[in-house]
Parts: sequence; C-alpha cells; structure tokens
Amino acid sequence: MNKNVFQKSLFSWYAKNARDLPWRRTRDPYKIWISEIMLQQTTVNVVIPYYERWIKVFPDIQALACTSQAKILKNWQGLGYYQRARNIKKSAEIICAQYGGKIPEDSIVLRSLPGFGPYTVAAVLSIAFDQRRPLVDANVRRVAMRLLALKGFSEAKKDKEILEFLDIILPEKNNNIFNQALMELGALVCRAQQPQCLACPFERFCLATKKNLQDSIPAFQRKIAQRIEAVCALIEKDGRYFIQKRPPRGLLADLWEFPGGKIEKRETQREALARELKEEIGVRLVSSDYLFSVKYAYTKFKVYLHVWRCVVESRPKSDATHKWVLASEFKNFPLPSATARIIDLLFKRQGKVQCSKHALANPLRQGTLK
Ligand code: SF4
Repeated sequence: MNKNVFQKSLFSWYAKNARDLPWRRTRDPYKIWISEIMLQQTTVNVVIPYYERWIKVFPDIQALACTSQAKILKNWQGLGYYQRARNIKKSAEIICAQYGGKIPEDSIVLRSLPGFGPYTVAAVLSIAFDQRRPLVDANVRRVAMRLLALKGFSEAKKDKEILEFLDIILPEKNNNIFNQALMELGALVCRAQQPQCLACPFERFCLATKKNLQDSIPAFQRKIAQRIEAVCALIEKDGRYFIQKRPPRGLLADLWEFPGGKIEKRETQREALARELKEEIGVRLVSSDYLFSVKYAYTKFKVYLHVWRCVVESRPKSDATHKWVLASEFKNFPLPSATARIIDLLFKRQGKVQCSKHALANPLRQGTLK
C-alpha cells in the first residue's frame, strides 16, 4: 500500500464528505476534550445538543472548575456514564490549580488526570495540538480490521496491531485531520452493517473487500442484556414529592430519584415497595396504587421500573440527601433518565407543564408503558 496515495485518498474524501459538527469548528483544547468525553459510548446526534448547551453554560475550564458538581451532573443528565462528568470536574480543578487553566500538552501529565485514558490523551493531543498520535476508537478499529482483514471481534486486544499500522500510515502534518477523517469514514462509509465499499476511497487497498469478508469483519457479537424488575414509590404531601440522593459511589452516584429498588426473587411489587421503604427511609407502607411502568436500557441490563403512588405511615424527614420538592423544583436536581421520564409522564398525565429539563422519549408512544 502506497502511504502517500492512501493519505491523499482519505484527505480528498474527507474534504468532500465531512459533516459540519460543532466541535470541528474549533481547535480549543477544552472544547475538543469535552466533545471527546461526551462522544464516548454516545452517538453524534445525541451529543450535539448536550455539547452546545454545555459550552454555553461552561464556556471554559475556569467556569467548570468553579461550579458545583450538582450543576455539572444536571447538565450531563441523560448522557449516562456519569463518572465521565465527575472526572471532567476533577480534572478541571486540577488544571486550574496546577496548570494555570491550560490543558497540558504533555501526554504523561494528561494521562495522570482523572478520566484521561490513552484514547482521550491521544485525541486531545492530536486534534487540538496536532501532535502525531494514532487514534483508535470503535470506528477506526473497524476500518483498520477490514483494511488488514483482521478476523475476530472488535476488541481492545486488536489495538496493538492496529496502532502499529496507523503509525505507518499517519502523516507528519495534519494528522489531526487524518485521524478525524478515518473516524468519519468508519461512521459514514465503513459502517458496522452494510459497508459502502463502492463509495470508499480505500476500496483498492482493502484486504477484506478483496477477500469478500467485509460483512463478517469484525465478527458479530450478540449481547444479551439482563432483565431487572424494580419498583419506585411516589410519595406526595401538600404538593411536594419525596426524593432521595443516591450514594456518592456506584451506578448513577449522587443523582436524585424516588425511593425504591430491585424486586427480589419471589417478591411481589407491593412487597418490594414495603421492604424498600422500610430499609431506605424507615417508614411503613400503608397503601399503594400502581401508576405505570417505564423501561430503561443500560449497556448490560434492561430495567423495568414500576411506579406506585404510595401512602406511608409517617412523613419521611428532609436532610442533605432526602428532600420534599415541588414539581417546579425537579429541574434543579440531577436525575437519572428513568426518573426524568417518570416525571415527564406524571405531569403530562396531570396536565401540568413538563418539568424535566431534558425531556426524553415518551414511553406511551413507544409502547413501553404497561
Ligand atoms: S472498502 Fe469497504 S470494508 Fe474496506 S475500508 Fe472501505 S468500506 Fe470498509
């Protein structure tokens, strides 16, 4: 494969086909960093409105370092993998305190910051500072596996060989554009299903196409999500609703939700509600009415969350991690997407204004409401 012809083909394809994405209009390392973190595990179309809102609310690292974690989580609400947002905050504080608010250009320093894994370090250094660094994300891995006809699953184990290949073909200059072009090619042309080989600038170099293996590389991996049934309790008194903060570690840490939890084996939904309310907030369930259910998918499991309006024997107390809030105040709290969806449904049903800032798809329309 002629390296120069390869690079030229890619540059010319990218010049004609690149999407105009907001983070491509800047070389500001802060903005590149935020976009790269948001794009991990999340699609471009989902990220765009989050990114644009984020840059308005936190235009620079200083704004981020000075704000509260709750405000950061609120602006991340719905993107998932909240540890990413917490790491952004921690890194912003370190960068302001130790590096004058400027993102360091040194890979070892960057790697020591929370949330800066090898990919993020390489992405920021390549895209913002034009350092010569190969980048392997899921799109690039797929393109490279097909170009080299590397059989097997798309997994990090393949990256050593892919990085060696990229290191050979990466240009000395404009490697930031080269890297973005390769990712774009994977997203638009060398797609996971039905790669568009006839529109691909690499068709003549591609070993998978030559061997007619483009549809079987990488190998298809069926992921079976575990089904989890859970309940949550809507407790209302004088127009206020009781919510609680999740623990500071673990899944959805520090987000606010209605009390509840997983239904144990052989438990009915009512039994699970009674147990959870006793365990979590120390109150006895007096009566409960089923409202509706929402379905929510995480990477490894699907949650079916059953919502009940509950009357409890005594009024649970307010403190730092438990609050009684008005419907209009939900927007001030970072919420898991499932809770935001429940709130949307509740207030739509009651004919009140929608109170979740980042409204999600209506399960009624998706047929997931039971
Ligand atoms: S020719 Fe087809 S399989 Fe090969 S890199 Fe291009 S789109 Fe992917």
